[in-house]
Amino acid sequence: MENKFPGKDITLDDLKTKFPLVAKKNNKHVSVVEAAGVEFGGNNIPILAGPNMVESKELIFDIAKNIKDSGAHFLRGGAFKPLTFPYRGLKYNETREDGIRWLEEVKEEIKIPIITEVMEEKFIPLVSEVADILQIGSRNMQNYPFLTACAKTMKPILLKRHYGASLRDWLGAAEYILYEGNNKLILCERGVSVPHTHRSTSRFLLDLQIIPAAQEVTHLPIISDPSHATFWRPWVEPMALASIAAGANGIMIEVHPDPKNAAVDPLQPIDFNEFKSLMVKMKSVAQSINKKIL
Ligand code: PEP
Ligand code: MN
Repeated sequence: MENKFPGKDITLDDLKTKFPLVAKKNNKHVSVVEAAGVEFGGNNIPILAGPNMVESKELIFDIAKNIKDSGAHFLRGGAFKPLTFPYRGLKYNETREDGIRWLEEVKEEIKIPIITEVMEEKFIPLVSEVADILQIGSRNMQNYPFLTACAKTMKPILLKRHYGASLRDWLGAAEYILYEGNNKLILCERGVSVPHTHRSTSRFLLDLQIIPAAQEVTHLPIISDPSHATFWRPWVEPMALASIAAGANGIMIEVHPDPKNAAVDPLQPIDFNEFKSLMVKMKSVAQSINKKIL
């Protein structure tokens, strides 16, 4: 396919020279990234679910059991949180180490792999003890020394797109990770900022088009996070289904037993029943495009 047209953020030819490790070597080149026995980028679509924040031990056990019963493959949840509002809910410095220990216990008892965010270089060893995938948050996407330090752990990494970053900036950040010899990299679209002139819906806008755009030029798997993108519970389901239809290699969803009382971003999580029913719908959309959610 001709991939040079004016206005395109980056072409495969550009990418091959600028970010050679991220670029596809040929049309069929796709990487399957394995983490804790779960494959991203193959025919199966992993589902990563859990609260925004690891609020308490009880909460994280309750959620882990429930999402696992509904078929989720990974438990998500931040002990280290980038909080836009520092005074909302538990503060960043109240959850961190405790939260990691609760994740460790829940992983051991419930037997579910963990994806959790790491925000500072000094905590990489602690978070790496427990996380099966290190999540690099949108706000750290271009913190290049931090990307390098995370890559050096050789752990699987999820790199969220910054809400102001182009595909080219995002893939440039990804190149830093691959450059360290760490090929276990998964990309995650989580919504972009929109100018006020265009803002008619929510805080962010899920850029579904980035999924085929990224897949055209990079071999890396790309997942979608409709919870952060929509910031609004009723839109999570349609955008999760649309992400699967658009070719996402995984879905990250916020789930909370009592969404309205979630400590962080209470407008976006879905509850246990909604998650259970969404799993059924996601499976049928996956099937319609010859993929599976196991
Ligand atoms: C999160 O997933 O908890 C999170 C903070 O996401 P983002 O970096 O996309 O805002
Ligand atoms: Mn959030």
